[in-house]
This record gives sequence, C-alpha cells and structure tokens, in this order.
Amino acid sequence: MRVAIVGAGVAGLVAARRLAQFGHEVLVLEAADAPGGMIQPANLGNLQIDIGAEAFAVRGGAVAELVDELGLTGELVEPRALGSWGYQDGEAYAQPKGGLLGLPPGPEAAGLEAAVGPEGVAAVAHEALLDPRIGADAANLADLVRARYGERILHRLVAPVTRGVYSLDPELVRVDALLPGVLEQLREHGSLGAVVRDRRAAASPGALVRSVRGGMHRLVAALVADCERLGVAFEYGTRLRQLDELPEHDAAVITVPPSDGFPYLGDVRAGRSVQSEVVALLLDAPVLDAHPRGTGLLVAPSASGTDPVRAKALTHVTAKWPWLDEATGPGRHVVRLSYANPDDASLQRALADASALLGSPLAAEQLVDHARQLWHMPPPPARIGAANARAKLQDAVADLPPNIRCIGTWIAGTGLASVVPDANRVVQQLQNVD
Ligand SMILES: Cc1cc2nc3c(=O)[nH]c(=O)nc-3n(C[C@H](O)[C@H](O)[C@H](O)COP(=O)(O)OP(=O)(O)OC[C@H]3O[C@@H](n4cnc5c(N)ncnc54)[C@H](O)[C@@H]3O)c2cc1C
Repeated sequence: MRVAIVGAGVAGLVAARRLAQFGHEVLVLEAADAPGGMIQPANLGNLQIDIGAEAFAVRGGAVAELVDELGLTGELVEPRALGSWGYQDGEAYAQPKGGLLGLPPGPEAAGLEAAVGPEGVAAVAHEALLDPRIGADAANLADLVRARYGERILHRLVAPVTRGVYSLDPELVRVDALLPGVLEQLREHGSLGAVVRDRRAAASPGALVRSVRGGMHRLVAALVADCERLGVAFEYGTRLRQLDELPEHDAAVITVPPSDGFPYLGDVRAGRSVQSEVVALLLDAPVLDAHPRGTGLLVAPSASGTDPVRAKALTHVTAKWPWLDEATGPGRHVVRLSYANPDDASLQRALADASALLGSPLAAEQLVDHARQLWHMPPPPARIGAANARAKLQDAVADLPPNIRCIGTWIAGTGLASVVPDANRVVQQLQNVD
C-alpha cells in the first residue's frame, strides 16, 4: 500500500523505515527543510553538538534495539557518573545520592546534610516516623512532599528536578504521573524514604541513559540513510494544513499534534505547547576541567526572589560525555543552559548564569562560539489535568478511520523511550489492517 507520513521526527522516521521494510511505498512530508524534529545538531566551533534531545532512557530496550538494527551499538556511550547538582539563591549543592525525583532514600543519604542542612536531615529522619496516611490525599506532588518533609526538601531537592526535567512546578505535577503507585506503596512501606529505597534497589544498576558517540543526531542520519536505502521518499518544506492535502494514499501516519494550523481531529486540540530555549556555549575555560558541578545543575526556585539566575538547568556537556571532552580538548568546554522564558535567554544572561551556576567567573572573551534553539514541546503529560485532555485526544484518535494512525511524542509521551516503541506498535497495527 501507499503510506503518507506527516513529520520526519524520530516517530515518523521509525514508522517510515518499518513500513518500507514491510514492502510498502512510503512518502514522508516534513514542514522543515531537514529531518529530526526535536533531535537536531548545531555547529559550535568546528564541532557538532545536540541542541535538542541528547540521550535516551534505556528503559524498555526499544531504542537500544533500534540503535542495534542501524549498526550503531558500538557507538553507544554512557554519561560520566559525576552526579548532578542543585542550585538555589547563589548556593550550589550536590544532589544527595540514591534519590528518586529528588526524594532522598533516608537521613543517612550521602550528601544530604550538605544539600539541605541539619534541619533538612531532621525532616527526612522525621518522615520515616510519620503515619503513612499523612499526605495520602495529596492533590499534587508539592502537597505530598510538603506534608511528609516540609518546604526545604520540596524547594531544594524536588522542585529543581520537576522544573528542570519536566518543565513543571511540583504544584502542577500529578503524583501518579511521575511516581506511579507511590501512594499505595507508601501505605505498604510506611514512609516515602522506604519507597525510594525499594524502587532504587529494584532498578537495574548503571546509567539510566545512553547516547551515541558524536551525538543523537547521528541516529537520525542513520535512520534517514536506511529509509532511503529502502526506497522511502522525503518531501521537505511541506507543512500539512488539511488531511485532504495528502497525496493519494491508502494509509496515513500522523506524527504531529492536532492544532489550529492542522485541525485534523475536528475541534480537539493537543493544548498549549511548552517553550524551552536552549543556549549552548563553547568556552575557553580550563577551570572547568575539574568538572566543578558534576554533569550539571538543576535550579530551584529562588526563595529570596532576588537571585538573577534565570536558567532552569545547565548541562556541563563536556563533563557529561567523554567523547565530546576528547573532541574539544583540555581547557575547552561546552555548557548547555535551558530557559523556560525565551526573553531571559540573552547571550549575556547565559554567560552570567553559567558563571553563577558553575561557581567560576566566565568573561565574554572566553566565549568561543554559541548556538541557540527555541523549542515548542507538547504539554507535559504529568501536568494536573493532562490526563483528561489526553483521554479526549485518545478518543478522537480512536475515531479516525482505521487507515489513519497517530504516533509521536504528543500522544505517546515524552522521550525516545516512549516514542519509539509506540511507533513500532502502531505500524504493526496498520500492517494488520492491511
Ligand atoms: C531540548 C530538548 C531536549 C530533549 N531531551 C531529550 C532526551 O535527552 N532524551 C529523550 O528521550 N528525549 C528528549 N527530548 C524529547 C524527544 O526529543 C522527543 O520526545 C522526540 O524527539 C519527539 O519525536 P517526534 O517524532 O514525536 O516529534 P518531533 O521531533 O517534534 O517531530 C515532528 C516533526 O513534524 C514536523 N511537523 C510539524 N507539523 C507539521 C505539519 N503540519 N506538516 C508537516 N510536518 C510537520 C516537525 O517539523 C518535526 O520535524 C528532548 C526534547 C527537547 C526539545
């Protein structure tokens, strides 16, 4: 059959490749002039770095399987185990070891006192003694953490993670979305600390993420090359606005959310996207050879309201990925800052934020090159209210004719570990319809 695919992000590319392997005639329509979507390279000095997704979660194994099929297994890399840091109001602190979503495993956790002080340690010790019903009716993650530990643990340990990783304040996080089943487990184990210890013990050892030497954009290049080998056709610079603009086809796979610009699900829309501006800096800064803040920092909300730092997270990319460290050589460093508000993301601000976060003054003369990219991401699935909106979307998608299928991060969830297996599953369904 002839299959039209809308979008050449990782979802569209995975689907195109599978469908072509099944012998179908595949055409991919992409609005931009290049493939990859949220996985994109950027030039920095004479290097290429990832300016979008830079890694994938190993959970489930589907991405590693794809990497293997594309012959890139030998190119897989792990981040250095340097740990990550938090930052609040001018003070940086290593995140305690053995935590989950910032929640510490117990009062004896390495680095806890340095992060939250003796009163924070006392709050964690006290949590183990609380009635397990306390916090069980929490309406959101902030309420749960506040009820069990108080404000300090919430602001210093948990908020930096939800803001930096999920673009959400803990007040807006559905507990069950980021910690499924935690309230039942709290009842069973008696304390959140015990739940954290239990979950960490069950997790497989080693890093939870991997990347590809040279950057995740190499995965996109390999996917496109394999698609082309299998005869998939690509049309770039084509933004679909209506389903009837699709060229003649027997089936269609849509990887983009329904929007005012492409209202293919009637009145149903995917909701307002979340912005994130990424600013990458290449710096001449030998002082950073010592990796002063591990692989990077997540920024807590300012308690004083006066801290000038506006970034929500900083990744010390050359500390995190040895292959890039080798490529830049001693004394040269790449850092990536992300901003929730693009107005805050001036080059001057980024340099000042990097100085404050890394604890090393960085002058404009040390800046060798920079790159930036504004991203629009689908509403985070963990957001309060997102479950209803998602259910509506899923109903509308289920009402589409059986030869039209939807995949992609807006419906499958954030990250390659969600997007890739979902694309495989949906292609299999389409194959069965055929
Ligand atoms: C800054 C950043 C960091 C991230 N870090 C990680 C990470 O470390 N690990 C991880 O697993 N995930 C990460 N992610 C998430 C991950 O990148 C995404 O979940 C995944 O790449 C989404 O793939 P997709 O194909 O569903 O969507 P997209 O990549 O958004 O692809 C959709 C494509 O469709 C095109 N398009 C849109 N509308 C139309 C239209 N009307 N007609 C034609 N084409 C259209 C777009 O141009 C785009 O190319 C990150 C995302 C960002 C932005």
